Amino acid sequence: MKKEISIVIPIYNEQDNIAKLYERLVASITNFTKVYELIFINDGSTDNSFLELLKLSEINDKVYYINFSRNFGHQIAVSAGLNMCRGKCTVIIDGDLQDPPEIIPQLYSEYKKGFDVVYAKRKKREGETFLKKITSKLFYRILKRITPFEIPIDTGDFRLLDRKVVLALNKMSEQNKFLRGQIAWLGFKQTHVLFNRNSRKHGKSGYSYGKMFRLAIDAVTSFSDRPLAFVTRIGFLISFLSFLVILFAIFSHFVLKQTITGWTSLIISSMFIGGIQLLSIGIIGEYISRINNNVKNRPLYIIENTNIRLDDSE
Ligand code: UDP
Ligand code: MG
Repeated sequence: MKKEISIVIPIYNEQDNIAKLYERLVASITNFTKVYELIFINDGSTDNSFLELLKLSEINDKVYYINFSRNFGHQIAVSAGLNMCRGKCTVIIDGDLQDPPEIIPQLYSEYKKGFDVVYAKRKKREGETFLKKITSKLFYRILKRITPFEIPIDTGDFRLLDRKVVLALNKMSEQNKFLRGQIAWLGFKQTHVLFNRNSRKHGKSGYSYGKMFRLAIDAVTSFSDRPLAFVTRIGFLISFLSFLVILFAIFSHFVLKQTITGWTSLIISSMFIGGIQLLSIGIIGEYISRINNNVKNRPLYIIENTNIRLDDSE
């Protein structure tokens, strides 16, 4: 029997959230269907999250787990869930109760109206640090300016996808995932519902600023060549300026009979050029490292064990 809806939940050290999350998910989904599956991806948790998941899978045969061999990161955990889910539609939701499961019926009812992607857009974000809010706001605004298509502002990965969107996503084989961007890139009929984002119930955020920064660079490099164009333009501009300076120096030496001297100006200008050069090489390096990653063509993740059988005709 085909599943009506799959729920994909990445889990990284959420032991105190899992039981409550499960309860709320089931209460919310059974409002409209009994034919569902919950797919939890244990992304190398170092606490007892996996034990919690095992317990759930024993009491409910609609609970599936994918246990990674180590921490691969949130986007990859979600990708594994998308690869292995079987529902007519699939919801991606965080495991820390920041995305309220009670919104799922709303997402589902928009889906039933014929939308292929229904994303949950946050009205308010509670309990997050000022720095997190401001960096995330800035990031979305910049991304919007440098990508040629619409990546919705103020949305995370909490959303519902039709089966055909999931299949299309699974065909995008890039190693550095930025699912929000990829889904926007795919097109299809999209809409959103609004919700208040709660603060995380237990535990602490698995997204360090380092991980956030990497996600941001992935987002930019996957969806925009603008940084490269920017580097080229800066290069032209600086070459042009230094050409003017050379002209002026020659003019001043031969015509004004004053030779320009100065240690300070020399150091400042060479440091300036040095900085620009390092930045440019860095930007180019980011793109090259992504080419490198994709050429290696490694599996995205390694599964230690799972109770999903993919030949399952369920
Ligand atoms: N997560 C994951 N792997 C990681 C980091 C996070 O699977 O390396 C999961 C985490 O358990 C949660 C979701 O991804 O379900 C969002 O992570 P988090 O709440 O830490 O991010 P934030 O909400 O602070 O951006
Ligand atoms: Mg969170």
